[in-house]
Formats: sequence, C-alpha cells, structure tokens
Amino acid sequence: MTRHLPFSQPLIDEATIAAVGDVLRSGWITSGPKVAAFEAQLSAYFGGRPVRTFNSGTCTMEIALRIAGIGEGDEVITTPISWVATANVILEVGATPVFADIDPITRNLDLDKVAAAITPRTKAIIPVYLAGKPVDMDKLYALAKQHNLRVIEDAAQAIGSTWNGQPIGSFGDFVSFSFQANKNITTSEGGCLVLNNAEEAKLAEKYRLQGVTRGGVDGIDVDILGGKFNMTDIAAVIGLGQFAQLDKITAQRRKLARHYFTTLGADFEAKTGAQLPPAEFEQTNWHLFQIVLPDRITRPEFMTRMKEFNIGVGFHYAPIHLFTLYRERGFHEGMFPVAEHVGKQIVSLPMFAQMDEADVERVCAAMWEVLG
Ligand SMILES: *Cc1c(COP(=O)(O)O)cnc(C)c1O
Repeated sequence: MTRHLPFSQPLIDEATIAAVGDVLRSGWITSGPKVAAFEAQLSAYFGGRPVRTFNSGTCTMEIALRIAGIGEGDEVITTPISWVATANVILEVGATPVFADIDPITRNLDLDKVAAAITPRTKAIIPVYLAGKPVDMDKLYALAKQHNLRVIEDAAQAIGSTWNGQPIGSFGDFVSFSFQANKNITTSEGGCLVLNNAEEAKLAEKYRLQGVTRGGVDGIDVDILGGKFNMTDIAAVIGLGQFAQLDKITAQRRKLARHYFTTLGADFEAKTGAQLPPAEFEQTNWHLFQIVLPDRITRPEFMTRMKEFNIGVGFHYAPIHLFTLYRERGFHEGMFPVAEHVGKQIVSLPMFAQMDEADVERVCAAMWEVLG
C-alpha cells in the first residue's frame, strides 16, 4: 500500500521543537517575551501596523467587532462559504449576520451581491479569502468607504498572500489571521489581529485579558468586559519558527499549485466536468487547492474513492446558512444558489509544503481514475 497522503500537514523544524523546549525550561510559559517578539515581527511584516496575538483566529474577529462597537441591532455582511466561525462571531456580539452569495469562479464573496445587501443597519463586511485568494481589494474598500462600513478581513487562510505586491494585512482596516494547525503557518492554535492605531491596540489588549488595565506597582482596574484570549509563549515561539519559513512555504505551495495545473492537463475540465480554481500564482498563497466536482459524482463518493488510493481529501466548506443554528434564524435552501452548489461539491486536494511533485502526480493520476 502506498503511503497515506493527508490533505494538510504542518511543517515544524527541529529548531522550533528545541525552542519550545527552551521556553518550557525558562520558568515563563504564558504570555511574555516570545509573544512580544512574535508581535514585533508580524508588525514589521505588516508594514509597521499594530498587531496583537490571541489564542485563536476566531476571537480576533469577535474582538474587532467589539472594538468597532458593533452589536445589537447592527447587520454584518459575510459569505456562506467559510468556516462557521466567520458568522458565529457576528452572533457572539449580538449583531445580525447577513449573507451574500459567492462568485462561482473565485468562490469568494460576490461584491456586487454585497452592495445589494447593504441596508441602513449595515455596519461592517467580513470578507473571507478562501484558499488564500483575496477578493478585489480595491473594490472592497471603495464599497466600504462609500457606505461608511468597517471591514474585518477574515484573512485566516491568507498569510503570505498579496494584493498589488502588498502583503494582505499591510493595508486596510482590521485584518484577522489564524495560526490553527492546518493554516500555512501555525502556532498549534492561535491568531493575530492587525489594527489601525495604538488606541485600538490598547482595546484589543483589554478585550483579550478580562478588560484589565494595570498601572503603577499594584494598580488595577476593569472598565470593559473582556475575555481570556491571550497567546502563550509556548505558542508564540512556534509562531516565530514558522514565520521564518513563511516565504519558503508560500513559494513551495505556489510551485505545487502550478504542478497540479500542468499535470492535470488543459483538457481536465472539459473531459471531467470538474472546475479548477483560478490559475493565479502572484497573489494567492495557495492555502488550499480546491476543485468543484461535476454533479454526476457526490462528494462522499469522491472522498471514498480517493481514500482507496490512500489520499486524504478535505472540504471547505459546507454553507453556513444551512446549519441548524442559522436555519433557526430564518435562512433556508435557495437563498444563495451559487454557495449551495459550491458548498455541496467543493473538495480540497492535498496541499502542504512538504509535498513534492511526485505527490501531486499521484493525486492527479487518482483524480483521472475517479473522474475520467
Ligand atoms: C481557520 C479559520 C477560521 C478560524 O480560525 P481559528 O484559529 O480556528 O479560530 C476562521 N475563518 C476561516 C476562513 C478559517 O479558515
């Protein structure tokens, strides 16, 4: 039997493993100097903008919504095709999620549909960069400006992606990243938020630690309701080791993505009815390599067949609006037809930095067997 090829796997080097040991031996294992160092490196990468780290990507978005003062009675527009966290944070702050359908080619929010969904109660947009592919950032921010909306970018998958040569996160409004285990770089669990100014950064610090402000030798006060969202130095030192490899990881993923296209061949879509992602190698970090299956095969059938070749296949994502929690809030089938179709037929093929071209060829051969 051939080796199992998962769809994702973290790349942790020995230096990082040793650095974790050093933190564990240091006597300081919660938030400390490693968190500060990681935040400083991220801030430099994001053009000097303030950055704060957290124990998940999810909470960064919740905190951004709180900093923006969004809550009860406010509407926030997002995509149905994301991890459910993207919409859950809107509910978490007491606001109302409003979905807009996706573009069938990019599988990201269709910004014209976002524009059509804006009401006098709309306060923010949460765009998601699925597979690391940014939306049209110029159009996004023009729309936000025109309607005076905040933007909380769910860039969970987009570290290393760029827009017109600028890293995602180095411009814009709030930008949220996840360092969960499957992301291009990881801290095992964790996330960071890029903010606009020192005042927002101060608030982010309060929201991540019980709303506490300290001063003097024993001065302490709490004036807002915060939570417990801080990153540990154990996680941050993993992040530092990972961050050093970011360019290498992004380059390898782009190389593997190119190899998927050349190996599948120009007639793959015409012969199988499957839909490949846009062949773009400058901006996206290729967090995922996703295809939309033809209707003649179901996703469970495809996943089961690929498993026979010992190849792991993921799916990102089932449409959020069709989960029970959202159906109970009035969402139902037929509201977002593109998202519903893509959400049913989309699959994520193996894509991670340790793969080589032979792994890609193995996946492509299996795909031709299953879909050809
Ligand atoms: C991973 C992910 C999240 C959540 O990040 P966590 O760190 O797991 O909380 C949110 N949105 C998208 C698009 C993601 O991929």
